[in-house]
Amino acid sequence: MRSPIPDYLAEVHDTCGELLGGAVADYIPELAAADPDTFAIALATVDGTVYAAGEADHRFTIQSMSKPFTYGIALADRGLDQVLAKVGVEPSGEAFNEISLDPDTGQPRNPMINAGAILTHSLVEGEDADARFEHLRQTFSRIAGHPLPMDEDVFTSEWATTHRNLAMGHMLKAVGVLDIDPVDAVEGYVRQCSITVNCRDLAMMAATLANGGVQPASGELIFRRRVVRQVLSVMTTCGMYDAAGDWLTTVGIPAKSGVSGGIIGALPGQVGIAVFSPRLDEHGNSVRGLRAFERLSRDMGMHLMDVTRDARTSLRGSYVTDGDHPTEVHKVQGDLRFAGVESLVRAVSAQPPRASRVAFDLTRVSEIDDVSTRVLLEVIRRLHLDDKVEVLIIDPDHVLGEHGVEVPYARRLHHVRELTAS
Ligand code: GLN
Repeated sequence: MRSPIPDYLAEVHDTCGELLGGAVADYIPELAAADPDTFAIALATVDGTVYAAGEADHRFTIQSMSKPFTYGIALADRGLDQVLAKVGVEPSGEAFNEISLDPDTGQPRNPMINAGAILTHSLVEGEDADARFEHLRQTFSRIAGHPLPMDEDVFTSEWATTHRNLAMGHMLKAVGVLDIDPVDAVEGYVRQCSITVNCRDLAMMAATLANGGVQPASGELIFRRRVVRQVLSVMTTCGMYDAAGDWLTTVGIPAKSGVSGGIIGALPGQVGIAVFSPRLDEHGNSVRGLRAFERLSRDMGMHLMDVTRDARTSLRGSYVTDGDHPTEVHKVQGDLRFAGVESLVRAVSAQPPRASRVAFDLTRVSEIDDVSTRVLLEVIRRLHLDDKVEVLIIDPDHVLGEHGVEVPYARRLHHVRELTAS
């Protein structure tokens, strides 16, 4: 059987490829030379499979799609507090290249607009400009899965014309938020924007964010969870500049666009997506890219706010076993998060135990998050101390207390069969 997924992507590619509106960015002279008809879509799953349609090997400069990753590196290098002391997290509602600061804090409003991105670049660890850039380029390469070179022509072209960005660098220096030389900061930022990628690389980079900071193919932990949460949050509110609200309501995927014509999207826990087509709308977002994301989100139910209902039905059922040691067994299912564990606890605490032994059958549970673990441990403690019952946990895959957490007051079994044997 041939997988229908590549065929679906090819259909989206063909349909969106009919759009001819928008214009190639030309304020960076070298970008104006891009072929406006180039069009590619790539989708990478959190287990490292990449699907692609169109010219997915075509290379282009990463431009502003670099910003979330640089933000992640700055957060990893400096810690959240130091970064937040320099760059805010509020959507600006302005164009990406607005020369502006937050009037209350005197900081750039967020790391996705140029002012914030120049400052973020300055926070990347490195003793000088070269070391900073090399650390950044190598980290980008690990996220993509192979070395990413810089496009010297695009760099030279932007560097020669980047007066607005230099104005921002000097402004940041003048108000005292930028610690390094402003020209070095802007040059480093322009180099960062000139790193080249193709759609497959970008999809894999986005999938690393979707996968909680673990590169799906290599398994390498690049960013800790807390960093990923921060990056994805800022992408959600600020990634699409002055079109962020429209994007969040229609597409609903944390995203970032770049003037070369790319858009990346990271859907937590599921996929990384990248689309490339150079013609841009008035906000600087790829016209075909926007449409392709709209299609993918709608057709594949990828809107962040379209939440599944499984969390509410964690208790599959309860029964009491026959035999010498009657046991009340609660069969639990799915991933346990707060809403799931709450419904479970509500059902279990609604009436006193029906036998002198109570068992939780976790055979069909695949993951239990921190809060659910704590709640479940407390339920076990209370059943044991208050209701004076023996508590059993049937947990063949060791999902409860996965990270070395002790489970006092309960005996572990590996299979329901052991209930009748013990
Ligand atoms: N290098 C570009 C600039 O600073 C990046 C802008 C973008 O992609 N939106 O203007």
